[in-house]
Amino acid sequence: MAAKTIAELDLQGRRVFIRVDFNVPLTPAGGVSDATRIRESLPTITHAIERGARVVLASHLGRPKGRPRPEFSMLPVAAYLAEALGQDVVLADEPAGDGAKKVVNDLRDGGVAILENLRFTPGEEANDENFSRALAAYADVYVNDAFGTAHRAHASTVGMVKYVSNKGMGFLMDREAKMLSKLLGEVARPFVAIIGGAKVLDKIGLLESLLGRADAVCLGGAMANTFLCAKGASMGRSLVESSKLPIARAFLAKAEASGVQILLPRDLVVAEDAKALAGTVVSATQVPDDRAALDIGPESIAEVSGVLARARTVFWNGPMGVFEAQPFAAGTIAVAKALAQVMGGTTVVGGGDSVAAVHRAGVASSITHISTGGGASLEFIEGKKLPGLAALES
Ligand code: ADP
Ligand code: MG
Repeated sequence: MAAKTIAELDLQGRRVFIRVDFNVPLTPAGGVSDATRIRESLPTITHAIERGARVVLASHLGRPKGRPRPEFSMLPVAAYLAEALGQDVVLADEPAGDGAKKVVNDLRDGGVAILENLRFTPGEEANDENFSRALAAYADVYVNDAFGTAHRAHASTVGMVKYVSNKGMGFLMDREAKMLSKLLGEVARPFVAIIGGAKVLDKIGLLESLLGRADAVCLGGAMANTFLCAKGASMGRSLVESSKLPIARAFLAKAEASGVQILLPRDLVVAEDAKALAGTVVSATQVPDDRAALDIGPESIAEVSGVLARARTVFWNGPMGVFEAQPFAAGTIAVAKALAQVMGGTTVVGGGDSVAAVHRAGVASSITHISTGGGASLEFIEGKKLPGLAALES
């Protein structure tokens, strides 16, 4: 059966365990530097409080590698949350154990507790049975609102779920699943995918799955360098994943057979390195030996913009260049703006850097859906079943 949402679950007086994604960036002083992820889960948490639940929140934060490390404590998150909710948030001093048990048992209806960083124990990422059972002991109801971790089978996303019979998606998870599903199955055409960024290997599964579904795939960023190199272009000092050239060649051959249009950059902005104050435009087949390709050039921007102007469904992941450096941001910002102009269609952006670029371009409100999950959104669009979502079905 399809997963329920939290709105369909009886929460009154129950211990409602909510797996959230509070993996927020921290300031050097240990404060929350960007609270977007916390704010995204507030509707789910507030709903549970208003329904009289005893709310138990749990998340990972950073990479403490399976042992307690104070710099990755949930303390700053708990403080931010208490402020945002206008009520006490009790922090357990461990993810599971007698201290955590006491904090959960002491909760009143409408009260909120948060467990210490789940990755303070190796059992979380190992999806360990004992740790899963320990977490399940705090839950009468299980809710998963951590879309960004839904592609991982961990104790808090999969292992514990089988021990809790009442379960469902939080509002954030539900919205992600609904919106990303719009790109699976029947879509308004043309369906265009823009794939850039850095890692070919991370995204090759996605690219191959798009061959059966998209009308055009535009490649940019360092990703495109590898494909250009695979086609015989000289790429100078550009970032190229040399070990992935055979994969890139095989993909281009498959694409040709499938009839899906693959657009590679026609021109590139090159410089000595990303610290350069300006770049020069060269043909995409001839990057000088002492230069690196750092952005797509004006002809390529015009071509991608033209394709986007006709598109009805668009998925974008990965910037077109080193957009963090102003001289090499034009391609990425142009794509963001062209995406915002797509009329009456569905536009979806996934991936941390691409989402940052959409905000930088000031067009976030014109995009149909901005996913909170990087890897999770890629796997979802690829058509894979995310373990964290599958666990919620019954
Ligand atoms: P996302 O987070 O949106 O999934 P990725 O993490 O795959 O995107 O890629 C983003 C990174 O790729 C950025 O740090 C950007 O600077 C880098 N990048 C893009 N184009 C190039 C390029 N031509 N050369 C080197 N790095 C690039
Ligand atoms: Mg990234």
